[in-house]
Amino acid sequence: MGEEAPRRQGPSADRSDETCRICGGDRRIGNSFGLTTTCPSCHGTGRRLEAAGFHDVTKTKASHHRQTNKAAVAVKAQWPVTFEGGQLATEVKSSAKCPGATKERLIREIIDYEDSHGQCTQTFTKKVRKQLR
Ligand SMILES: [Zn+2]
Repeated sequence: MGEEAPRRQGPSADRSDETCRICGGDRRIGNSFGLTTTCPSCHGTGRRLEAAGFHDVTKTKASHHRQTNKAAVAVKAQWPVTFEGGQLATEVKSSAKCPGATKERLIREIIDYEDSHGQCTQTFTKKVRKQLR
């Protein structure tokens, strides 16, 4: 006697929010026949069912923002689609004298020209080649 019993592991007062409200964490209740039986609410766990398997559905808003992928909408061709355009763009890209910024501009021009004319004409090709020199 005089020795304190070791603290039981289990529901304690500071976790009252998770303690079964029916049995108070005792896991057992006395039924109407005066018998002690397993708590029908927590089924002997001593914890609230709400706490054990509760999912906060209120956090899942039905009208959450739909993220619009602007990059996918505004995606543009990075390279000419026609054979002539591709050849010309390759010439531009492999040009040793042409600065990188000019290359980008010329390739963009080729793509734009293709877009409006359907193909790269000889005149346009010559015009671009001139700028490489
Ligand atoms: Zn209970």
